[in-house]
Amino acid sequence: MVDQKIRKPEIIAVSKTFDIEHIKPVLEYGHKNFGENKIQEAISKWTDVKKEHIDIKLHMLGKVQTNKVKFLIPLFDYLHSLDNLKLAEKISKEEVKKNKKIKIFIQVNLGEEEQKNGINLKDFDNFYYECKKNLNLDIIGLMCLPPQNENPEKFFQKLKECSDKFGLKDLSMGMSNDYDVACKFGSTFLRIGTKIFGERG
Ligand SMILES: *Cc1c(COP(=O)(O)O)cnc(C)c1O
Repeated sequence: MVDQKIRKPEIIAVSKTFDIEHIKPVLEYGHKNFGENKIQEAISKWTDVKKEHIDIKLHMLGKVQTNKVKFLIPLFDYLHSLDNLKLAEKISKEEVKKNKKIKIFIQVNLGEEEQKNGINLKDFDNFYYECKKNLNLDIIGLMCLPPQNENPEKFFQKLKECSDKFGLKDLSMGMSNDYDVACKFGSTFLRIGTKIFGERG
């Protein structure tokens, strides 16, 4: 059933592959949340811009190698793709070192063959408590990427159920093609690229 008391979701403008000139109109309009999927690209695009616009929030959506965590923590405010313990441990250490914490979504693999990234549901309990209790990470919610060309409803539903079970507040789900569906299932962060910036080259 559709939850009637859902919060209005935040929109993350996914600016990956676009240069800062292309992003500027959205930035100058006053939009605050931007998403990227590569650390190196984000460093060159956002380091200076973020100093000029201190209230911008940067969201890392892509896979992060452990050797890039030292760059992730200073620049980004959110990570949407935590899916392994090595990465969690590295983030925990780096957060202490840099005296900065980022908000984190655990990426969940909802059991479909096509999906390779993400923690399996059967391992979720252990992973979540390890991150939260032992590594002291600020886990705010769950993220999923439903397989393309499939109806996303059952994936959003499953993610919402898992999120409720663990009392998590945020859900990162919904992209240009399925954000309306994601809203019905209680998404709190929509990740929209194409519908804002146009087709990527
Ligand atoms: C690129 C990307 C998006 C945005 O996709 P669109 O279909 O262009 O809206 C959202 N989430 C993730 C993880 C992405 O890599």
